[in-house]
Amino acid sequence: EKKASLDITTLAKELRAGSRAALARAITLVESRRGDHQALARELVQMLLPDTGKAFRVGITGSPGVGKSTTIDALGTYLIEQGHKVAVLAVDPSSARSGGSILGDKTRMARLSASDDAFIRPSPSSGTLGGVAAKTREAMLLCEAAGFGVVLIETVGIGQSETAVCDMTDFFLALMLPGGGDELQGIKKGLVELADMIAINKADGDNLKRAKITAADYRGALHILAPRSEHWHPPVETYSALTGDGIAKIWQKVLDHRKAMNASGDFAARRREQQVKWMWSMLEQRMLARLRSEASVRTKVRKIEAEVAEGHLTPALAAEQILELLQ
Ligand code: GDP
Repeated sequence: EKKASLDITTLAKELRAGSRAALARAITLVESRRGDHQALARELVQMLLPDTGKAFRVGITGSPGVGKSTTIDALGTYLIEQGHKVAVLAVDPSSARSGGSILGDKTRMARLSASDDAFIRPSPSSGTLGGVAAKTREAMLLCEAAGFGVVLIETVGIGQSETAVCDMTDFFLALMLPGGGDELQGIKKGLVELADMIAINKADGDNLKRAKITAADYRGALHILAPRSEHWHPPVETYSALTGDGIAKIWQKVLDHRKAMNASGDFAARRREQQVKWMWSMLEQRMLARLRSEASVRTKVRKIEAEVAEGHLTPALAAEQILELLQ
């Protein structure tokens, strides 16, 4: 096993001073699969913990083509004009398979990537959704420690990645298109229940009227669903990422939400619940990682697995035996 000779105290110091190069190096350390790197990364994040937690954490989701990157470019540029430093991260569980992330790509955010007050990082490309999400969450903490007051986390509207991003953010924004056919997009998948706001993009030119109708349809649909918090009813707004029309309104909703959640105590409660949930999620992953990585354990697990497949051992007994291997 190689031992890393990285000076994490210096790295932490540079990162705290706001160095984007140090931030990038720290995230690379978090994303590394090497055991010694992971140990150092845990130490680094723990060291920086007092400097985390202060950002607006905003999740942004939507189907491909809805305008996520255009929106992040416009919203991020607006926020920088307001004096914020903006970090953009992404959770793309398919990037490991496709060999390249379509999310968090700098070339898709031309204005933002040219700014010294922005930091854009594509999705980590390692394996499972749980792994990708955990690394993105740690990257978010590092961004906060580096002084980024807004962290935008992009995810594509497929499967469980939305839940994962919702679990690490304070405000979850669902982007939709005007006139999504008979059915409202996202209602069936349960996405709408996660959203703190629905924003209908491309409300410009010929689309304007259709966008307004779509917004009214979503308002009607949200009326039927029970809101996640009694102190916040998710608004539905139209905007255009292309013209920038309505971008300020979206941010105003984020501020309104923060105010309402702070007043009710829901903000702190949501953060607390998220922390504990992440602890269990990390534990689950580390246990699974041990089962997969330690050669002697792996061999025994394979044998047990084969016995279950053959019907010689019940899954319940097998699980018991595997648990004993971890002690
Ligand atoms: P993503 O796949 O969700 O990131 O979507 P993109 O941001 O790449 O946008 C997909 C396409 O929609 C691009 O051709 C954009 O120029 C276009 N687009 C994005 N926002 C708007 C908008 O507000 N109005 C119009 N008319 N087109 C837009």
